[in-house]
Amino acid sequence: MKTTKRDDSRTLRSKLGAAWSQLRYVPKTATLVWKASRGWTVAWISMLAVQGLLPVGTVLLTRHIVDGVVVAMNGGGEWEAIAPLLIPAGLMGGLLLLTEVLTGLSNLAREHQAELIKDHIASLIHDTSTSVDLAFYDAPDYYDHLHRARSEASYRPQKLVDNTGSLFQSAVTLIAMGAVLFRFSGWIPAILFLSTVPALHVVLRHAVAQHKWRLRNTSHERHSWYYDWEMTSDRSAAEIRLFDLGDHFKYLYKRVRSRLRRERIQLARSQSLAQMGASLIALLATAGCLVWMGWRALGGLITLGELALFYVAFRQGQMMMRSLLGNVGDIYRNILFLGDLYEFLGLEPTIHAPDQPVDIPSPLEHGIDFKDVTFAYPGAEKKVLNSFHMTIPAGRITAIVGPNGSGKSTLIRLMCRLYDPSQGTVELDGLDLRRFDPRALRRKLTVLFQEPVHFNMAARLNVGFGDLEAGPDAVEKAARSAGSHELLSSLADGYDTVLGRWFEGGSELSVGEWQRVALARAFLRETPVVLLDEPTSAMDSWAETEWMKHLAHLAERRTTVIITHRFTTAMRADLIHVMHDGCVVESGSHAELLALDGRYKESWEAQMTTGEQ
Ligand code: ADP
Repeated sequence: MKTTKRDDSRTLRSKLGAAWSQLRYVPKTATLVWKASRGWTVAWISMLAVQGLLPVGTVLLTRHIVDGVVVAMNGGGEWEAIAPLLIPAGLMGGLLLLTEVLTGLSNLAREHQAELIKDHIASLIHDTSTSVDLAFYDAPDYYDHLHRARSEASYRPQKLVDNTGSLFQSAVTLIAMGAVLFRFSGWIPAILFLSTVPALHVVLRHAVAQHKWRLRNTSHERHSWYYDWEMTSDRSAAEIRLFDLGDHFKYLYKRVRSRLRRERIQLARSQSLAQMGASLIALLATAGCLVWMGWRALGGLITLGELALFYVAFRQGQMMMRSLLGNVGDIYRNILFLGDLYEFLGLEPTIHAPDQPVDIPSPLEHGIDFKDVTFAYPGAEKKVLNSFHMTIPAGRITAIVGPNGSGKSTLIRLMCRLYDPSQGTVELDGLDLRRFDPRALRRKLTVLFQEPVHFNMAARLNVGFGDLEAGPDAVEKAARSAGSHELLSSLADGYDTVLGRWFEGGSELSVGEWQRVALARAFLRETPVVLLDEPTSAMDSWAETEWMKHLAHLAERRTTVIITHRFTTAMRADLIHVMHDGCVVESGSHAELLALDGRYKESWEAQMTTGEQ
């Protein structure tokens, strides 16, 4: 028995400790709200203070009105008896009108404030999501954080502000009501307070339970989102139909949703039961006080007006107390969820500029070296590269060929410093990439990924994103150089055609055509290094032949790396590295590699005889 008590007190202490530690988010949130909307916050708080005092005025006037009505009724409806009623009645009307006007105005202020805060938080989330290391995207934990930050925490600060506002308003009303009730007896405000304590307990317990439930179920929620997305996105529409996967996905969605729904309803049910119990206690307290006051009224110790004043003040006080405690609970709940937002916003990129970054050599004189590089993706056990060496000579075209999964694309990601090797160095003209500012480094690179982003925006922008400062002429010139001009100018609105199907009037391109748009984007960048990852994988052989002519132009005086599984592309490179299982197994020109009679020759012959592309 003793042990249980000690355990209980320990649990309570740890709960209080956890609640206390969450309070550190309050000043942060206040700063966030203040930064997002100063003027509206000040206006809103001022109106809340006035709104808090108005109910007390109404309650005090009630007493005058009731006593006045009693006098008027005793006076047999004479004008002299009725006249004194007019002033409190008029004031009451004025107060009620003011209450309505202020409610409308404060709602308006709140709307302004809410919109500003929402956008401010969205911009903070975007700052983080566009700057964290790519490695974060490899961890499911990151998506859990992102999910909670976007779906829950983003609106919590506004809720916190709302709750704090209501808390403030209720507190003002309550203090004033307490003063009114104190005149009857000192213990009435005490009963008022005690009768609402059970409700506080219920609210706090539920806040913790709900938060824990959320943390436990983020992954399930994300699964339900994922199934929903697969069933509704254009990307999967065709295959969902062809493989007849609709029912299967519906089943998966329903299964995870029914679990989530069941647990949520269970939570709500237990909260409702506890809340009903708490309300019953509050009701009993009201009844007790009323019996006592009624008894006093019957004894002629107080007037009818005073009885009415007491009743209204006590009920109002109880309502205020309950709303105040409810607000405390909500504040607590919102603060718990805010932890998720701040945890997400606190994610720091590990790849950042050194204190004294060195200038990036441009153009390169020696080239790019991988020296003794070992690398495994975060969370993966398998090393993609193990003590890996490779040299990419400056000013020439180097092709990297090899089977899928041999680590070719990983080399490009390391060259862009999207990841850092766990051992060894990647060097530009003998300088470790870690000595450069990563943003400056990326400005010196043109990268064309195997699956370039399809921006659902105007064709002009799709090319223009290669260099935001380039004008329309430069965009067109880049498209011509990349051999994409005919394609873009033949679209319905030429370069102004919106690409993709997301927006009205959009024009969808084939995968190969998107690749050509991305190639034009690459041509727009004047950089000393060009990295191409399977740039022609979705092009037909006619387009590829055409494209190869442009490559020579793109690669002029630049250091170019091209990853390809097409030997017809690779053979035109000055140097070819053949990779297998994270190692370079052969290197040389096309002729040298054929003469070597090794892996390259074998694959070359296989591709030539089967016509495999
Ligand atoms: P290639 O370009 O030669 O086809 P990659 O460099 O893309 O090969 O991949 C090499 C290996 O790294 C593969 O086994 C692949 O499964 C693994 N890999 C690639 N990307 C990731 C990632 N983001 N997280 C974990 N493993 C990855």
